[in-house]
Amino acid sequence: LSAIEEVEPRIAAATRQELTDQRASLKLIASENYASLPVLATMGTWLSDKYAEGTVGHRFYAGCQNVDTVEAVAAEHARELFGAEYAYVQPHSGIDANLTAYWAILAHKVESPALAEFGAKGVADLTEADWETLRRRFGEQRLLGMSLDAGGHLTHGFRPNVSGKMFHQRSYGTDPETQLLDYDVIRAQAREFRPLILVAGYSAYPRRVNFAKMRDIADEVGAVLMVDMAHFAGLVAGKVFTGEEDPVPYADVVTTTTHKSLRGPRGGMVLATGEYAPSVDRGCPLVLGGPLSNVMAAKAVALAEARTAEFQTYAQAVADNAQALAEGLLRRGVDLVTGGTDNHLVLMDVRSFGLTGRQAESALLESGIVTNRNAVPNDPNGAWYTTGVRLGTPALTSRGFTASDMDAVADMIAGVLGSTTPTTTSKGEPSKAKYDLTDDARDGSLAEAQRL
Ligand code: PLP
Repeated sequence: LSAIEEVEPRIAAATRQELTDQRASLKLIASENYASLPVLATMGTWLSDKYAEGTVGHRFYAGCQNVDTVEAVAAEHARELFGAEYAYVQPHSGIDANLTAYWAILAHKVESPALAEFGAKGVADLTEADWETLRRRFGEQRLLGMSLDAGGHLTHGFRPNVSGKMFHQRSYGTDPETQLLDYDVIRAQAREFRPLILVAGYSAYPRRVNFAKMRDIADEVGAVLMVDMAHFAGLVAGKVFTGEEDPVPYADVVTTTTHKSLRGPRGGMVLATGEYAPSVDRGCPLVLGGPLSNVMAAKAVALAEARTAEFQTYAQAVADNAQALAEGLLRRGVDLVTGGTDNHLVLMDVRSFGLTGRQAESALLESGIVTNRNAVPNDPNGAWYTTGVRLGTPALTSRGFTASDMDAVADMIAGVLGSTTPTTTSKGEPSKAKYDLTDDARDGSLAEAQRL
């Protein structure tokens, strides 16, 4: 930090403060973690300075021999860890991984057949009229993914996102009674809509998914099954999700981030069957430019860590801690979407406290508990104020928290929410943003967060 200090002291100060904040508060954001020192150190090297567009052994720049090693090692670890036929480690983020996957699927399923039909050897042979036809065909394709308010991600066809604009999209939700996925309903929707791509995976669904059932639905309607395991990749890597809960044997294409439960650097990855490998390998030029060589190196280090027995113990503890947190909250009368969890996250419904998700998130933050507000299915408060707060255990588990610690955390959360009341607006209506939190509850929680 002293080297940074000399150039831009404000950045050194913010970096130092972030360390203090992350240590002094309880990080319950389900998509965050603490990467190891080897992972962090690998990101901060001169590998960052190297351009390496292309793929291993096939680059558009000279001097890529070391980046070739880095990328090959990272891909090898990814293939072996997840039992995948092919791994692509270049995407800079989860969104990049999903875009790469979508365009690779379009290249394989739409562009390649069109090239054969047009009698072209490659895209360079296409006439303007061929391009027009091809563009129209890309725009005709359909995507079926999980809706945002049921726990899906923006990139699964949410209209304001590019995925909702490049595809005709529809979404599946969860059962209004149980709040669980209903595979019969998804099957009926798929039969009617006949998507090119069926997307499974979530950001805020507190349950496991049966990927054998999703595969069966995809097969019935001739769809490509794509699974976005960004949130639960660590539970797959750590062998907590096995059999029908492991997406890799069932999906054509699997995407992930590397920084959530997988505990690596910020980044993305695409795994695929051999059939899709040549198309995914074209991530650059499809949607990517030069890969972040330093981050690919850090992915290799994190994947090597994830192949250890210690990581399996960690992943099991993430799930056990989520269970303990959910049980602790339920015992204290907090409502949970689906009534509990069997993965790494818990989604609280805070309406019984008379609060919006935003008020609950802010009151918890003031009390040393960092969370994020989140929509619940059919959320009456919409995506900004929300009715839910999402909690996740990957980060605290990295700090060594146990089930009894999670019970203490549940006690703090219930105590803070029970001591928070919405303030009223000048018209006498309850505000969706402002709230009162008792000093005792806040101070008690802050002290407990420091202790833990
Ligand atoms: N996919 C899922 C399921 C996610 O939850 C997220 C992140 O929240 C992403 C993709 C996007 O990841 P990133 O923020 O790295 O682009």
